[in-house]
Amino acid sequence: MASRVLARPPAFRSVGRSLLLTLPIALWSLLMFTPSFREPGRDRHIGSLAVILFMTTLFFLMMRTGKTYQWRRWFFVALGLLFPVGFIASLVAVRGTMSIPVERMVSGDTPFCYMVIPMLFIPAALARTIIFPGSILPTANNPHSIAIMIGIWLAMTLVVGKGWCSYVCFFGGIEEGFAAIPKRARIGRSVRKLDPRLRLVPWAILLFVVVLSAALFEPVYCMWLCPFKTVTEYPAVHSVETALQMGIFITLFAGLVIVLPFLTKKRTQCAYFCPFGAFQSIFNKINLFEIRFDREKCVDCTLCQTACPIMALSAESIREGKTLMNCMKCGACVDSCKKSAAVWHLKGTKVALKPERARLLFLYGAWAMATMFGGSILANSIATMLHWLPVK
Ligand code: SF4
Ligand code: SF4
Repeated sequence: MASRVLARPPAFRSVGRSLLLTLPIALWSLLMFTPSFREPGRDRHIGSLAVILFMTTLFFLMMRTGKTYQWRRWFFVALGLLFPVGFIASLVAVRGTMSIPVERMVSGDTPFCYMVIPMLFIPAALARTIIFPGSILPTANNPHSIAIMIGIWLAMTLVVGKGWCSYVCFFGGIEEGFAAIPKRARIGRSVRKLDPRLRLVPWAILLFVVVLSAALFEPVYCMWLCPFKTVTEYPAVHSVETALQMGIFITLFAGLVIVLPFLTKKRTQCAYFCPFGAFQSIFNKINLFEIRFDREKCVDCTLCQTACPIMALSAESIREGKTLMNCMKCGACVDSCKKSAAVWHLKGTKVALKPERARLLFLYGAWAMATMFGGSILANSIATMLHWLPVK
């Protein structure tokens, strides 16, 4: 290993070529946000303009530097931190509170959340019942309907597979934000030594919530296990049961989304708990893009394994030239590899033949999706915050 000569770091692209490669994303951003400039509202215009500049600049930097993870993280953490701002503001505007009484949940007066998608299919097939009590079609109170959310999920999943967890999931952005705060992991080594079978926990939770939701005809995960209820909407506390639910939500959020990511610099909730992440892993099988390892260049230094935020690599998987099934295509392993052995790969082509082309094709799809979905959330949250400003 030590005798190998260090590969040169990836060359920066020229400014002109980077701008050219960024042009499709700039045009896509304009297409997405131009309609908002036709509507009245200075705050909304500023939010849209900020998002166009933000997303285009980050993509340009990805092209210019050849690095993916660090620039993607700026967007993803902003999404995670600003999503609750816009969401809570809309809840308070509509209902006057973040909490929701059970009877209003049952009447469908609640925004649909993609986390519940795996739990929908069996009850829908068995009894033509949508167990999540949201509206199928958008209403004035609930613009985020089930039909819209499932359409968005399907389109994005086909384009990015489990890349959903790196480019779309605002919940993951919150966790990545806390993981980004410390310079070094306080208990990083201990995480590496954890029993690899712990990676199966999200699958076990997925099985548990799917089966129990089908048996009870209610979204068990949302009602009992979702850490993110803490920063979205929670059941109004008026009984021992609802107090217990709130206790579980807050404990899981504090432990898995704040404390452990802060101590380990890993996305511990995503790696060891999230059933939706496990569900998305299945779609990596049909997604065209993946990360592979060029065994000719790899020296088994395991730097990439250390860099991976969700433990989607093992020494064995690297030796086999592959990631584990839960890879979320964040690019941290590729960026960390000093031998250029970790590469983006288009399935069906020779490994490491044209990795930059594979990366570019993947990023066009992922960033277009991120701009459309996450960008809209960011623009809305920025407009909300501007609206709160005492000075106009
Ligand atoms: S692919 Fe991973 S293990 Fe191999 S050289 Fe690169 S960082 Fe080291
Ligand atoms: S294997 Fe690489 S791309 Fe996949 S999640 Fe880990 S660091 Fe990200």
